Amino acid sequence: MGSAEPHQLHIFFFPFMAQGHLLPAKDMARLFASHGVKVTIITTPLNAPLFSNTIDHGNQLGLDISIQLIPFPSEEAGLPPGCENVSSIQNSSELVPKFFKSLDLLQKPLEDLLQEHRPDCLVADMFFPWATDIAAKLGIPSLIFHGTGFFSLCALDSLRRYKPFENIESETQTFIVPNLPDQIELMRSQLPVSLKTPSELWQRIIESEGKSYGVLVNSFYELEPAYADHYRKVIGRKAWHIGPVSLSNRGIADKAQRVNRAKSIEDDECLSWLNSKKPNSVLFVSFGSVVRFTASQLIEIAMGLEASGCSFIWVVRAKDEGEQRWMPEGFEGKGLIIRGWAPQVLILDHPAVGGFVTHCGWNSTLESVSAGVPMITWPIFAEQFNNEKLVTQVLRIGVSVGAHEWRVGGFVGGERAAVKREDIEKAIEQLMGDGEEAEQMRTRAMELKEMGRRAVEAGGSSYIDLTALIEELRLHPKPAV
Ligand code: UDP
Repeated sequence: MGSAEPHQLHIFFFPFMAQGHLLPAKDMARLFASHGVKVTIITTPLNAPLFSNTIDHGNQLGLDISIQLIPFPSEEAGLPPGCENVSSIQNSSELVPKFFKSLDLLQKPLEDLLQEHRPDCLVADMFFPWATDIAAKLGIPSLIFHGTGFFSLCALDSLRRYKPFENIESETQTFIVPNLPDQIELMRSQLPVSLKTPSELWQRIIESEGKSYGVLVNSFYELEPAYADHYRKVIGRKAWHIGPVSLSNRGIADKAQRVNRAKSIEDDECLSWLNSKKPNSVLFVSFGSVVRFTASQLIEIAMGLEASGCSFIWVVRAKDEGEQRWMPEGFEGKGLIIRGWAPQVLILDHPAVGGFVTHCGWNSTLESVSAGVPMITWPIFAEQFNNEKLVTQVLRIGVSVGAHEWRVGGFVGGERAAVKREDIEKAIEQLMGDGEEAEQMRTRAMELKEMGRRAVEAGGSSYIDLTALIEELRLHPKPAV
């Protein structure tokens, strides 16, 4: 038995190898370390550079953050060398199952590290469901990180439990998601494949959740109080909300360094372009780290943007790199086009940005909320259709572009564009125009921004939950060495 005396906590973070999971892990590492916790990030060699500036900068501030590398079993899993991140499997549906299968081979290296270091807690991504058992075997409490909010966790639980989509014949017929605090409607076509067909991985994820010490949620109570309560009291999960974690990046330098990968534009160039625009006049258009559009869809976006007459920053990622044929003549120069990677948090926080066309990835959604920017929602895969409902129906800080089809792996397009230029133009007019509805959305978004900021400050709801978790873990018997 260990002693119950307070000691410096040591927490392991083991994030999934995708930008949308690594970035919040980076923010969480800083957050916990700034509360006196010793933090170790477990990752693979090619994912490690993302964390280097967090570690260097953290160490300069006296924060105890370090990294432990484990090899990624690309070869054993039949993946090409260097395939260590979801971004390297995007253009191949054949590599996706191999990538997920390869994750199982990380069990032994994780167990060895836990054995050696005996941390007080393991925060493991949901895509490593076996991590809960390994930690339990060693007497180490483990927390699961899903990378989404309470609303979506509640909706997914309801969909799995009651299967309201089972007797629906048409893909486009709507049904109500049962037993939620609000009346939320979805279409069968908006559901992830893993819900409609049995998935072993998801079964393991659900089981591991039940066996874990609890769930760590990047959200704040005031954003989705009914769902935070529902998740804890009705579904019965132990959960701590500690977000928005991206707010741990305070100054411009922090926001700019957050990404730490080859950006396609200098931060200064971006900021001086934005500085030349009026407040709330610019639309930021970006679809996260995974989504790729085909030429037919890119043309529709370009034409919709042009017709709206709105200033924009558009982060373009084409399905086939280097494909330029989609660009309408004379379009370049109409707005700021970034091919590749943009400093998103820096852009969203700029006063000139008045709207965000987003795929509703949870990080992007929460970053938009944290910046007080209302959204045009265009969900594509994962749990993004749930996040859209939260934004448009519950929070009422967004307009839907009308996307109906969940797409495997986030590839959008094909011969036929999923969303037409007229729909894009209409949504832009609704969000960026001077109508009453737009004004109300802007006001609500600003109120939520303030609530989010207060939540992470001393005495705020996320701050309180984080310190309560740290205290609880401190009192937990230290795992025997
Ligand atoms: N991001 C960024 N620049 C880009 C694209 C994405 O900084 O050009 C960041 C964005 O701020 C967010 C994350 O990458 O933190 C994407 O996560 P999200 O959950 O929104 O979407 P995903 O990439 O998982 O689909």
